Amino acid sequence: MPTATLIDSHCHLDFEAFDHDRTQVIQRALKNNISDIVIPGTEKKYWHRINELCASHKNLHACYGLHPYWLHYHSQQDLTQLEEYISKHKPVALGECGLDFRPQHIDKKIQLNFFKAQLAIAENQQLPVVIHAVKATEAIIQTIKKYKKLTGMVHSYSGSLEQAKQLIDLNFFISISGSVTYDNAKKIKTVVKEIPLTSLLLETDAPDQVDQENSGKRNEPAYLVNTLNVISALRNEQPEVIAQQTTLNAKTLFNI
Ligand SMILES: [Zn+2]
Repeated sequence: MPTATLIDSHCHLDFEAFDHDRTQVIQRALKNNISDIVIPGTEKKYWHRINELCASHKNLHACYGLHPYWLHYHSQQDLTQLEEYISKHKPVALGECGLDFRPQHIDKKIQLNFFKAQLAIAENQQLPVVIHAVKATEAIIQTIKKYKKLTGMVHSYSGSLEQAKQLIDLNFFISISGSVTYDNAKKIKTVVKEIPLTSLLLETDAPDQVDQENSGKRNEPAYLVNTLNVISALRNEQPEVIAQQTTLNAKTLFNI
């Protein structure tokens, strides 16, 4: 285990999957040197849950947003309320927002409207954005290009190396989840090998996207160390070095 601390840049610790043992999950994270956890928002009705959770632990950090996966639960008024909620509660980022172009979420036009509205709010509130991009990396790049002052991260990155470079040029970080640990994850392994360490973040996306070693289990922040070790082997750099730089990257992005 590295002595440098790690930051889990994306974890849904507010989800019901953690209701029965959240305190222990946080303790195991701290024991494994995870110093901070960033919790993204999904739907308006859960912002308060995240707000309360983060108020009770100094190492948990809130984001509020409207996730494209739950598009049919969002309304236009939620966007107005999002801006109000953000200016009142001062999260570390707006998110998660983005585009999910898997067939079951194919209403591209509505997704794009919610995405753009949230990018405008983030720019207005001078906040970074946490972006969800599934089968939509190209559309994400084309959209964020128009918001010149924006910075942020693309979480659980799954695009190509070329697209990663474009995102980095647009001042975005590339966040890597446990999906990189799987033997068949060739595309993402190439990205991790080739991009500069100064653009990399680590995340679990728990309770989802568990690493290969824990396959079948509920994911949790303590498992971030497995992702770190796989990245260390891929890049041929000490875990210590990667831990230090990715922690610095997360602290810079989220201002924590
Ligand atoms: Zn997420």
